[in-house]
Amino acid sequence: MNNKSIENYLKMKIGIDEPFKFHCTQCGECCFNRDKEVILLSANDIFRIAKSLKLTPGETVKRYGFVYIGADSRLPIVILKTIDPMGQCVLLKENKCAVHDNKPVICAMFPIGRMLKINPEESEDTKQYKIEYLYVNPECGDDADTHTVSEWLYQFGISLEDKFFAAWSLALSKLSLVLQKAEEHFTEKTMQELWDTTLGLLYLNYDISQDFDSQFGANVEKLMELVQILSQYWDNAGQGDKSTSMSDNKGNN
Ligand code: SF4
Ligand code: SF4
Repeated sequence: MNNKSIENYLKMKIGIDEPFKFHCTQCGECCFNRDKEVILLSANDIFRIAKSLKLTPGETVKRYGFVYIGADSRLPIVILKTIDPMGQCVLLKENKCAVHDNKPVICAMFPIGRMLKINPEESEDTKQYKIEYLYVNPECGDDADTHTVSEWLYQFGISLEDKFFAAWSLALSKLSLVLQKAEEHFTEKTMQELWDTTLGLLYLNYDISQDFDSQFGANVEKLMELVQILSQYWDNAGQGDKSTSMSDNKGNN
């Protein structure tokens, strides 16, 4: 974070019992212009949307999502598609959200956002990570109601200590570091394979008839194995060890 981002973050930071004023007037405008402010989807968002539309996660992403590689993170990112000319969210049907009860968490929590604060000094223990909340000036609705973050999340069924969010953010941050490094070493073809694998394990490799949490746990385990293999590869490469089977180094092509 640069100084400006830190300043903005501190201005927006809100405690879980701190009051904020907001009343949604149901104008529906937040479902337009979504091409300017994209809606990022997590694996859990895609799973819930897929289940409510009776589709697989793959079909859901194909029909309603757009996938790209993040400019800074170098991670596969999935966002909701929009429809021209007004940037209407693809899931807005006849002025209603087609997945109202399973809308993406970003939509459900608005105008509250959240982030995982990771202390790099501390160990791998997930207890060392803290979810922090942000109040994003909504520039819509009115201030007829007063809420706290705890109440706001409770009414949308979102836990303050959302274990999925913590594990998801942590997995993304670890993957991002290795994928950024991988690009310095591997060819475009190998990177494409790595991105396809991570896209599948992050977002698509789920059976909607089964429990989400256990499938997410198994996928994260495989992703962390990949992180480990890549880290070992670089360690060995740094020591001049040629025994590794991953030889698709950019320098060799
Ligand atoms: S997912 Fe639903 S609530 Fe969110 S922008 Fe799309 S239509 Fe609106
Ligand atoms: S959240 Fe804001 S933009 Fe969206 S429907 Fe409510 S008042 Fe309108």
